[in-house]
This record gives sequence, C-alpha cells and structure tokens, in this order.
Amino acid sequence: METTETKKCHKVNRVLVDSHVEAYMPYQECQGGTQEQKAKFLVEAVKAFSCFLKDHRSQALIKLSVACDYQDQCSACGDRWDTFIDDDEKKKCGNCGIIVEDE
Ligand SMILES: [Zn+2]
Repeated sequence: METTETKKCHKVNRVLVDSHVEAYMPYQECQGGTQEQKAKFLVEAVKAFSCFLKDHRSQALIKLSVACDYQDQCSACGDRWDTFIDDDEKKKCGNCGIIVEDE
C-alpha cells in the first residue's frame, strides 16, 4: 500500500469542473451605478425575461451563452492546484500533502 511519503502527484491542467448558462443583460455595458443598483436591475431583468418566455420579442436584446469554468487540479486529491515547499525542500500538494512529481 502506498503512503503519502512514497506516492506522488502531478498537476492536471484545465480540468472541466463546471458548465453553466450565462444570460447577457444590456445593463452590463452601462457605466456607473452601484452594485446594488445593478443587482436590482438584473433581478427585474430576469423577471422580465421570464415573462418573455411566455410572451416573446420584447426582450430580444438578451443573449444566452454557455460558459465553462476550468481549474488546474492535483492528480491525487482532485483539489485546486496549490503547492508548497516543506522543511526538506520537497514540493508538495497544499491540499493532500503528496510529493509533486519532478516537472
Ligand atoms: Zn493533492
């Protein structure tokens, strides 16, 4: 059985960890206004878009797109890639503590 002292890990690049739909709302291009004002506008815009689904055309400026989130991960534990150098000058995963393979 491998222990954390003998087992090694490596960085796994660009692992797909999530995908979601984003809605483009015209307000996002406007300058100024507080985050609270923007949030309030977006809540109302989502309500209006929901009505559009029943009604159509009046909200035609809204565009939908699919966005994917990626992150570099540890091959051993699957957490976000984050390393540190221990007291013995060995590079280890900051999450699981397994030694990183030579790069
Ligand atoms: Zn790890």
